[in-house]
Amino acid sequence: MKYLFKNISHLATFGEIGELEDACLVVEDERITYVGSKEPEGSFDRVIDCSGKIMLPGFVNTHHHLYQSLTRNVKGVQNAKLFDWLVNLYEMWKNLDDEAAYVSAAVASAEMALSGVTTTSDMLYLYPKGKNSLFDEEVKGVSHIGLRFHPTRGAMSMSKKDGGLPPDSVVQDEDEILSEYERVVHKYHDRKKYAMTRVALAPCSPFSVTEKLMEETLRMAEKLGVLLHTHLAETKDEERFCLDKFGLKPVDYMEKIGWLNPRVWFAHLVHIDDEDIEKLRKNDVGVSHCPSSNMRLGSGIAPIVKMRELRVSLGVDGSASNDTSNMILEIRNALLLQRVKYGASAITPRKVLEFATIGGARVLRMDDYIGALNVGNAADLIMFDLNKIEFAGGLDDPLSAIVMCDAKQVDFNMVNGNVIVENGNLLVKDIEDLIKRHNRISKHLVRG
Ligand SMILES: [Zn+2]
Repeated sequence: MKYLFKNISHLATFGEIGELEDACLVVEDERITYVGSKEPEGSFDRVIDCSGKIMLPGFVNTHHHLYQSLTRNVKGVQNAKLFDWLVNLYEMWKNLDDEAAYVSAAVASAEMALSGVTTTSDMLYLYPKGKNSLFDEEVKGVSHIGLRFHPTRGAMSMSKKDGGLPPDSVVQDEDEILSEYERVVHKYHDRKKYAMTRVALAPCSPFSVTEKLMEETLRMAEKLGVLLHTHLAETKDEERFCLDKFGLKPVDYMEKIGWLNPRVWFAHLVHIDDEDIEKLRKNDVGVSHCPSSNMRLGSGIAPIVKMRELRVSLGVDGSASNDTSNMILEIRNALLLQRVKYGASAITPRKVLEFATIGGARVLRMDDYIGALNVGNAADLIMFDLNKIEFAGGLDDPLSAIVMCDAKQVDFNMVNGNVIVENGNLLVKDIEDLIKRHNRISKHLVRG
């Protein structure tokens, strides 16, 4: 299939060409074959007139827990901080099953697609009583909507009886975790350029995983040649936990066990100091900043403006602590939250959009084919309709308007050359049915 996008009012490539007005772009099959001002000759299967539209690379979300969309806005934990919030929700999540994993992954992906995400990561860390197939079901759910997917095989192995936070019902035996790591990497991890699915390994957090499993996961990732991900330095409670249990602050604990490493990206990094940032920089560690979750749980403000030399990206985090999968909102919150602490000139709309595009691609080590609209890259692109009410009077700088004027949703979303949103509508046929099923499962989980 060959597409010509012409008369693009504003094109922001986040790549080699920078920004263009009145531009054209050609997509052939899964990749971009032309970007420029001149309309190219030739025949096309489809020509799309993009007058009044702004086009940019699709957003890359680097931290999520898709299953948590089943437990958004649960009344009992609306006002809880992280540890209390988790302890209450574990009791609901222990009843997750295959259908719940599939439906929640599809519904959360649909919400992300409408907010401009073309690639998402996920951390599914909870496998009640060996329900290892939850991972396979979430891969199916995301692929039903058509997003590019970089799931991580999450894990929890340290329950309350071993000094951790989760109950026994949601942790797994370490041998089982290690063998599942191998199974899912062999089954789903595609190393080729334009891959639609890649897998990383992700023991959940310092307070739910043993030191031994952290070290064995690192060895496994090296053996399998995949990336590593975990939560780190999210709250003061976690810092106290690490000091009590390991005698070290979170970043120092990671240094001790070899996790300051270019394979790794951490979610949150709220409670860190300049010395920690220098250690992260020296070891080329990636960052997933999750401002909405940090605000929602009252965790604090991550010092993102001090991480200029790091690979920084954005994550919506699980929908139980956001409570959306809305990437546009995440981009806006990233800008606003840094300004609360560091002032109005501390961070620009273009910078936060960079985190959400090429920044995310760099964190997932996929910047050789996504994150920028360069010739030869995958055709992962989105458009906003600048004639919508939210942009009225805000078009002095159309790209920044996406952030500053609070764009509501994309008009168009293409992943790997496949259109998944057009005229603001998802193209999957069964979204209403999925939402009904999602609400039924959610009610069952929340009310028991
Ligand atoms: Zn998280």
